[in-house]
Amino acid sequence: MGVYDSLHVKDICPNCHEEIEYCFKTKEFGLSYADYYVGDYVDKADTNYFLQVDDDCPKCGHNRVAYIEIKKGQWIRTLSKETLDEELKRVALMKKIKKVESVIAELPEEWIDVVEDHLDYIICKCTGEI
Ligand SMILES: [Zn+2]
Repeated sequence: MGVYDSLHVKDICPNCHEEIEYCFKTKEFGLSYADYYVGDYVDKADTNYFLQVDDDCPKCGHNRVAYIEIKKGQWIRTLSKETLDEELKRVALMKKIKKVESVIAELPEEWIDVVEDHLDYIICKCTGEI
């Protein structure tokens, strides 16, 4: 089996609906037998990434895949595949918004009303506000 760290997560099993404690094993952080919980600093490097892990439910055996979000070496939260996909789309969208800011800063005057109309439309669609 080798040397690994354990990431402990209490959650409801999506299959049997029992509250259980997952024990996700990883060799990602180097050679130790450390036990980690959300909020712990797991990676000595000052890096941001998502770590894919999986474990079987101790009650029914259902395999659960999860994604550990690490920001600046700290375990911030644990995501499902669906939540991770949504999060990655959001991150891509935020990068586009940053680009829109720089585009607007140098926008020719004749385009200002067009862009404003489009942004108002998006805001209205998303929030219902006019
Ligand atoms: Zn289960």
